[in-house]
Amino acid sequence: MTVAASLDWRERAARLFPGGVNSPVRAYRAVGGEPPLLLRGKGPYVWDEPGRRYIDYVGAFGPLLLGHGNAAVAEAIATAAVMGGPFGVTGPGEVRLAEMIRARMPSVERLRFVNSGTEAAMSALRVARAATGRELIVKFEGGYHGHADSLLVEAGSGAATLSIPGSAGVAQAVAAQTLVAIYNDLASVEALLESHPREVAAVIVEPVAANMGVVAPLGGFLSGLRELTERDGALLIFDEVITGFRVAPGGAQELYGVQPDLTVLGKIIGGGLPVGAYGGRGELMDLVAPSGPVYQAGTLSGHPVVMAAGEATLEQLTPDVYAKIDQQSARLEAGLQMNGASVARVGSLLTVFFRGQPPRNFSEAKTSDATAFARFFHSMLDAGVLLPPSQFEAWFVSAAHDSPVIDATLEAAGR
Ligand SMILES: *Cc1c(COP(=O)(O)O)cnc(C)c1O
Repeated sequence: MTVAASLDWRERAARLFPGGVNSPVRAYRAVGGEPPLLLRGKGPYVWDEPGRRYIDYVGAFGPLLLGHGNAAVAEAIATAAVMGGPFGVTGPGEVRLAEMIRARMPSVERLRFVNSGTEAAMSALRVARAATGRELIVKFEGGYHGHADSLLVEAGSGAATLSIPGSAGVAQAVAAQTLVAIYNDLASVEALLESHPREVAAVIVEPVAANMGVVAPLGGFLSGLRELTERDGALLIFDEVITGFRVAPGGAQELYGVQPDLTVLGKIIGGGLPVGAYGGRGELMDLVAPSGPVYQAGTLSGHPVVMAAGEATLEQLTPDVYAKIDQQSARLEAGLQMNGASVARVGSLLTVFFRGQPPRNFSEAKTSDATAFARFFHSMLDAGVLLPPSQFEAWFVSAAHDSPVIDATLEAAGR
């Protein structure tokens, strides 16, 4: 295919999809310019049309902890695909992947597979409301939990990138059920719980915020949330769609030693295919139909091909692999220190913020120099390094990012 032909794909996409994309951040509005037409990926690399190679730090926005085109994952997908299905009954793939998740994340005693993180977060809120008989939700400014109506209030990720942290089309009455606290600010949570006593069903939080750029929880923040919610009778929901099986073998809840009541999962557990899951204490999950009165269903939930990809992914994530990814990520962090910028990192999640200090919350993150970020993004792209196209997205390091790849990235950044 020629360059003209690839322009043709863009024009056709622009006619077909709003903004030419099927998810907003892909449109490159925050950095300007046209996204490359990417046709192939292997390990840490992606190739565009007409064949230029880039080191990839997008990682499909989270799922690809093993890099692109992992051989065992691809084989598992192919094997499962020729077996037929889905069959409309529970199968061994669902059982095996669920057991792997529970073994790594013991707070998830029972779970339900769905098809996206959005669906998982939405369903977890429904369980929380049913369990508590309360209606209000507390989320954090800049926290992203997918695009369910009640969670599109002061949201991060693509919503933050486009400066539409809320959304048109969300009923006022629905948005009013969502209260917004400040990340890393326990007092802001306490104030909301006190002004709405015994009305809050759940506090939902990304235990490491990764949709306002990476913002680590300050010491005591997560355990403080645990105490405040317990005292009030609200549930604590960890959205580990990004952090789950990335920041530690058992996710952020293992890394920080705080157990939520419910956990929302996605991304990595689908090995690059569409997936979500929500789970937690047995008695809470037993509220879900047909055990209980909370209705939630999905035609393609627990799809055997997706389960096989997830299983093949988790199987490869040994402690050694985590140690290696962490070591390479630390080298990247150290090498990226530059004037006028700061680097925030938790494990293989990393953001270069164009401000002097890493932010502690979303309003601080927003004071980053977006123009400097866009310049950096494009010079890295020219140098063959593909970064997430927004100051508010994390870079995703994978197990395939070895020393030569990190060295090449740092050389590009140095230039
Ligand atoms: C990506 C993401 C979601 C939404 O998952 P989708 O599969 O895109 O619907 C939810 N929460 C967090 C923290 C995410 O990063």
